[in-house]
Order: sequence, then C-alpha cells, then structure tokens
Amino acid sequence: MAVLASFLLGSFYGSFLNVLIWRLPREESIVSPGSRCPLCLNPLAFYDNVPILSWLWLRGRCRSCGGAISIRYPLVEAATALLFAALWGRWPHSPLWMGAACAAAGLFLAVAFIDAAHRIIPDELSLALLLLGFLVSPFNPILRPPFAPWHRGLLWSLWGALFGFLVGWGVAAVGERIFKKEAMGGGDVKLLAAIGAWGGALGAFDALFVGSFWGALYGVWLIRRRMIGRRGAIPFGPFLSAGAIFNFFYLIPWGFPAYDGRRLPSQNPNRRARPWREGLRCARPGRRPCPRSSAD
Ligand SMILES: [Zn+2]
Repeated sequence: MAVLASFLLGSFYGSFLNVLIWRLPREESIVSPGSRCPLCLNPLAFYDNVPILSWLWLRGRCRSCGGAISIRYPLVEAATALLFAALWGRWPHSPLWMGAACAAAGLFLAVAFIDAAHRIIPDELSLALLLLGFLVSPFNPILRPPFAPWHRGLLWSLWGALFGFLVGWGVAAVGERIFKKEAMGGGDVKLLAAIGAWGGALGAFDALFVGSFWGALYGVWLIRRRMIGRRGAIPFGPFLSAGAIFNFFYLIPWGFPAYDGRRLPSQNPNRRARPWREGLRCARPGRRPCPRSSAD
C-alpha cells in the first residue's frame, strides 16, 4: 500500500519534473502558465494531464492539434515513480530522509535529461540541490552516524561539497590541458559539489569515478558506431546524475549507509574489543580459540 502510494506520488512529481525539463533550459517560468501542449500551446485538461496514463490513452498525441508528444513525458513519470517506490523500500524507517532523497533524486533525474538534450546544467537545479543537501544533512544517514551530534552531518556535507568542487575543478583543468578542449564544464563541477553535499566526499568521488567509466564506455560505443568523431564530446551530466542517484542506495565500496551502527575498521578506536556476545561464545570450554573478528 505504502509502495503504491509512493509510486503514485512519484508519478506526479515526475510530471512536475517534465515541466522543469522543458521550461528551465528555455528560461520560462515554471509556475505560469499551467500545463499546455508544447506544440499548439493549448492548455491541457486535467484528464489529459494524468501521469503516464494520459500519454498511453492519447497514444502520444495532443488532443487539440494531434501533434506527437515526446515519449520522454511518460518515461520521466514512470522513472520517478519507480525511484520513489525503490527509495521507500530502501529507507522505510527514516521518512524525513526518504522524502528529501526522493525530491533530490528527482532533481538529479531532471539534470540528466536537460543536460542530455541541451548540454547545459541549469544553475537553479545544481544550487537548489546544493542548498537542499546542506539543509537536510543533519538527517542524512550517509553523513551522520546514529547518535552523532547533528552538526557532524552538516560538516561532512560541507566538506563533501568542497571536495566535489575541488576534484571536479581539478579534473576539468587537467582534462583541458590533456585533450586541449573542455572535458568537463563548469556545470558539471557545480553538479559534483551538489553530489558531495548529499553523498559526502565518498559519494562525489564515486559519482565521478563510476560516471567516467560509463561515460567512457558510451563514448567508445558511439565512436565505433560512427555516431560521433574521435574528438566528439558527450554530455557528462547524465552520468554524474546517475551516480548521484545510485548513491542514495549504495556507496562503493563500504556499503550504505557508510555508518549503519557499525564502525569502519579504520575508524574504530577500540580495534581489539570484541562484541560481548562473541566474547561469551568464545569463552565456552572445549571450543577452539575464536578467529580474529572481521573488524580487525
Ligand atoms: Zn497540441
């Protein structure tokens, strides 16, 4: 039931994201006018504006002018709905964090579609993501271990954003020297800072690393199919955004959340201490000595 509710909520949020994807790069207002056909500009009735279903019902055509409506609309709505349901399944016990993660994951999705189509990442989106990441950092289980003081989350969020910005900026500078062209744009650097505000320094690093890997594979595939030249460029934002969304589920390589009550070995001040249960079990007579605990 809750999964269905989050799916429905996600599809409506996806409908709003479609408005962002269409209007932000065109610098139109996102509130007025209301939803309308991008071709004939006729306003949409509410029954033609139902997420996913309306597009299927109208078979991808506008009721007024009969023009083709992009499949991107139901696709974004369905993807957002699935994302909401999946995040619900991932974070059933932290509703506040889950809500924030849903909102942010949707915005990252919008960034991906806008950058893929227009080769720009609107500052509105990356800055909103950055500030939102700072704002919810006290509830962010990636950045703040349970029982840690709230400012721990904020500090790690700020550090993650700084790290993302610096590393992105460094990669952009080095890339420009090596390839003699823009390897990574300013929009990508700002996006990476926003990713760091949500996933910390590790999240930003993961997004950059995994994003580069898949981006390079995609580039090679395009070159082999002769769809771009050897010097051609592909937008990097969609790959960074995919990494950012993946961060909400899992951080490489330590799992997610990095601190779900366990301490990382390198951070454990008390490395030789064993959990008391294991100590009891090992103390029983007739047992061979316990192996060193996995934390060692
Ligand atoms: Zn129309």
